[in-house]
Amino acid sequence: MERLPMNVFIVFAHPEPRSLNGAVRDFAVRHLRRAGHEVRVSDLYAMGWKSELDADDNLVRMPGQRFDPSMDSSRAYANGTQREDIAREQEKLRWADVVILQFPLWWFSMPAILKGWVDRVYACGFAYGVGEHSDTHWGDRYGEGTLAGKRAMLLVTAGGWESHYEPRGINGPIDDILFPIQHGILYFPGFDVLPPHVIYRTDRIDEAGFTRVCEALGERLDSLRETAPIPFRKQNGGDYVIPALTLRPDLAPGRSGFGIHVDQRSASPRDSQNTTR
Ligand code: FAD
Repeated sequence: MERLPMNVFIVFAHPEPRSLNGAVRDFAVRHLRRAGHEVRVSDLYAMGWKSELDADDNLVRMPGQRFDPSMDSSRAYANGTQREDIAREQEKLRWADVVILQFPLWWFSMPAILKGWVDRVYACGFAYGVGEHSDTHWGDRYGEGTLAGKRAMLLVTAGGWESHYEPRGINGPIDDILFPIQHGILYFPGFDVLPPHVIYRTDRIDEAGFTRVCEALGERLDSLRETAPIPFRKQNGGDYVIPALTLRPDLAPGRSGFGIHVDQRSASPRDSQNTTR
């Protein structure tokens, strides 16, 4: 089957290039380029990425003025006075057809440096505060926004076993653990979010295991364009009461929790190929 080239942007958050993550990243870049795709990587540790959002992120500030993170971000974005490192990452996001966030699961979340990338790059007016905000339309978000039409996927390594992250596993379901990232960080500004690719039980990966990791990941990378996204409900698609932004009472009646924001009518059973044990 002919594959159309895509622009793939990998945001990589691991401090050691000779780590498993480093090897997986190198495999992914090679594999994607061999398939004809353009690939750009932001290696956050190697770039010395500044992870703290602070007053220095706006190059033009009024002396003595109180720092307001959202307001400053909004002004800097609108006036073109953001720090150059932030603007460059936004440009890479605009360039990309597919964005991959790659990181080791640290304390059930992303490493702080990657969270700091999100805090700073997701400026007000770019990733949030987009579109009309009124009692009838609460912004272009959750399925709409600046990054709509692009796809995103998490590529995560975890020390725990897959069973530890199953629905009854002690760590809690992986879909719940990743929900704040997949729904809150990726779906919010408009991405279509592909099921995550999680590599479990990393301490047990030997050479043969690494080959299997690459085979499974290669299949995911080959189907980035065709894989069905997680069917999160659109904020402005009629499923939510606005401005309360609660799910309509007739949808998922009696249920609550993260799962109600996935439209089960269009959900397909979890693809077992999304994980490597
Ligand atoms: P590495 O340590 O670099 O390698 C892992 C294994 O892969 C090694 O045995 C290595 O030999 C092997 N390997 C095989 N082939 C290669 C190759 N070609 N190149 C390099 N290595 C190879 N886990 C959880 O499940 N949940 C948590 O909440 C969690 N929190 C954590 C918090 C912290 C602060 C830390 C440090 C770890 C935590 N972990 C947690 C574990 C963590 O997720 C894993 O250590 C991490 O995913 C492993 O990825 P790595 O790239 O660092 O692997």
